[in-house]
Amino acid sequence: MSKFKQEILPGGMINQPGSSKDYKTGLWRTKRPVWDKDKCTQCGLCVNYCPENCIFFKKGKRGETNFDYCKGCLICERVCPVGAISSKQEEKF
Ligand code: SF4
Ligand code: SF4
Repeated sequence: MSKFKQEILPGGMINQPGSSKDYKTGLWRTKRPVWDKDKCTQCGLCVNYCPENCIFFKKGKRGETNFDYCKGCLICERVCPVGAISSKQEEKF
């Protein structure tokens, strides 16, 4: 086996528990959700459905999206009952 091959770590392994915060999965995003505060009724659906847990309630109000971890799946846009979330292309793409 060449030296190069020996240095490749096996994929899909978590070497340290509790390390997910170290991996900023927002870098994967090609689309960005855009939240319209004025249309938002604070129903909480986007908070509950976000698979990355990057939308929070703070003091009873929906807070800004944490783009360090938002992957741009746009489930939040799909579930919002009042159209308070739209999406746009990430500028880096
Ligand atoms: S786009 Fe996906 S990951 Fe980002 S805030 Fe919406 S539901 Fe969460
Ligand atoms: S789903 Fe829409 S209306 Fe409900 S909290 Fe989220 S942005 Fe606001």
